Amino acid sequence: MSGRPEKWSAIRAHLESVGFRPSRRLGQNFLLEDNVCEAIVRDAELEPGEVVLEVGVGLGFLTRHLLATGSPVIGVEIDPRLSDFAADRLAGEGSFELLRTDVLAAKNRLSEAVLAAVPKQGRWSLVSNLPYAVGSPAMVLLSRLAVPPRRMTVLVQLEVGDRLCADPGTPEWGALGARLQAVYEARLVRRVAPEAFRPRPKVDSAVMQLDLREGAPDSVELVRFDRLLTALFPQRRKRVRNPLASHLGGREAADRALAQAGLDPEARVAWLTVDDWRRLAAAIDATAP
Ligand code: SAM
Repeated sequence: MSGRPEKWSAIRAHLESVGFRPSRRLGQNFLLEDNVCEAIVRDAELEPGEVVLEVGVGLGFLTRHLLATGSPVIGVEIDPRLSDFAADRLAGEGSFELLRTDVLAAKNRLSEAVLAAVPKQGRWSLVSNLPYAVGSPAMVLLSRLAVPPRRMTVLVQLEVGDRLCADPGTPEWGALGARLQAVYEARLVRRVAPEAFRPRPKVDSAVMQLDLREGAPDSVELVRFDRLLTALFPQRRKRVRNPLASHLGGREAADRALAQAGLDPEARVAWLTVDDWRRLAAAIDATAP
């Protein structure tokens, strides 16, 4: 693909002429509304010259708004047809580096690219219209980098945003939300209607903002936290004592850890807050024989 058509009708004609059809599997719903792109960039509150990672560059509409702020942008795009198009379209528009890869398979590459680009204090942001299928795992992956983004401002399906921002004990609360909220404070900041996209999705979307918590767990603590969540969360309706006893190989070990963490053994797994999980993971280590 080459050329620099700007209007959607021209872009679509151009894409069709080279046989491109948006892929549902890759979540290719492109955000065309300038005012929504501008709102997302405003929500991100980028610091001057702050490095931005954009996962799923697509046709580069949002990227162009990001570059207009003067921030260097590191883009990731899995679809070679789109990465060629975006690289061509954005050439000369600012500092833009494109990683042509699957975000979920590129943890080390992302880490290297970000660390090479960020100044010493390591502050950088994620701003993205995320592909549905990989959006949540991609955010968890980025939250586990040695230097995670200080803020993530992302457009996701509303239902996904509701789940990731949910409170413990609610039906929406799940393991991915807990993993993200261990590191970030999460909230929804605006709804976006299907009309803002081409092709139009069937559901509403929302901009979600995640701010790095003060005192977020370090990588050693996160390994413990993730391991415990993986072991217990599938039994979310059970009282914590039983799955914990299976995980630790005995009731005594479970009771010791629960007492040390100050947790009620009768509490259900789904009720535990992020702080409860952190205390329990630390208590298991502290009370291990
Ligand atoms: N940023 C563009 C916009 O706002 O219009 C496109 C967003 S579109 C919702 C998601 C983009 O992510 C698509 O371009 C798709 O090809 C890309 N994508 C899907 N899965 C991906 C993956 N695993 N790694 C990197 N990019 C991916």
